[in-house]
Amino acid sequence: MKRKNAAIRYLPVILLLIFLLTGCTASGPAQSLPAERTTFAMDTLMELKAYCGDDVLDRCVERIAELEKIFSVTDPESEIYSLNDTGTSVLGNDASILLKEALSLCERTGGALDISIYPVVRAWGFTTGEYRIPAKEELAELRKRVDYSKVEMNGSSVSIPDGMMIDLGSVAKGYCSDCLAEMLKEAGVKSALLNLGGNIYALGTKPDGTKWNIGIQDPNGSGYLGVLKASDLAVITSGGYERYFEENGKVYWHIMDPATGEPASSGLISVSVIGSRGVVCDGLSTALFVMGLDRAAQMWRDSEDFEAVFVTDTGSIYITEGLKDDFHTAGAYASEEIQVITHE
Ligand code: ADP
Ligand code: MG
Repeated sequence: MKRKNAAIRYLPVILLLIFLLTGCTASGPAQSLPAERTTFAMDTLMELKAYCGDDVLDRCVERIAELEKIFSVTDPESEIYSLNDTGTSVLGNDASILLKEALSLCERTGGALDISIYPVVRAWGFTTGEYRIPAKEELAELRKRVDYSKVEMNGSSVSIPDGMMIDLGSVAKGYCSDCLAEMLKEAGVKSALLNLGGNIYALGTKPDGTKWNIGIQDPNGSGYLGVLKASDLAVITSGGYERYFEENGKVYWHIMDPATGEPASSGLISVSVIGSRGVVCDGLSTALFVMGLDRAAQMWRDSEDFEAVFVTDTGSIYITEGLKDDFHTAGAYASEEIQVITHE
């Protein structure tokens, strides 16, 4: 009798102990912690989080290093360096795929994306951090070397004109996120969040089955201007705040308008592109930033593979219609009215 009483008396404690030790709740087993990795590559800090074994993420980190070694524009051992150096190359699989993809995005955006803009970006000092404002004549001279349509690609054989330099920096992280997502899916992973320096890929859902919440950075501050719910989507932002310098009170950023050779001044200060293919979203985020709101909205109307969030230099937020249910403003922007771009 006495023993039974004791058991009943300690039952709550015993149940609590079982709960704490096994992580079990009434509704089933609680999720274990995700594997996480951080690595510095492609000039940015990358953070990977996935509900899988450590070995799978280790392979992802190796793949990132491998891709960086192929695409780097400054590493003398990279395939792109070699192409720029000699003017002709037979590319490996990744470089062929990405170059082909990038050229089609250059074409699709009417040259707002131009992967041969590198000599101009370099003249402004964005590759070294030794910033300067090049003279108009210097820019005019450099722009003669910029024209993606002169890249000749025949299968994996590529040649570029004398003086031209290719830089896949505007699309490489997006391509990388696609490769990693593919690897994770093949390994059976159902839930992962890849942050490649602000280029996000949300794989599957959170372990509880709800969509991932992706913060869209406030281009004027350090917080978020909004949150986007996403599943199996890339969310890629190009912003004037990412890399810039100031001179005489004027800001000069790293996204160039190939038509002028100067930092794009389209009235947009941030563009996030959301879609199932990271490489497309990456290229478009850069290109739409150059194109400005009206041309970007028209491109969205003519396309079926992306949605977008735009922030103008006057602080207005625009989203394309497909995001209506999944995007809301946050923080200082919580009461900000969102303009919805529609098909009309
Ligand atoms: P980030 O890589 O900083 O996230 P983006 O994807 O927008 O941003 O790519 C910007 C990079 O692409 C720049 O650092 C520059 O090297 C290159 N770039 C700048 N303007 C253009 C352009 N119009 N077309 C193609 N590449 C560009
Ligand atoms: Mg980009």
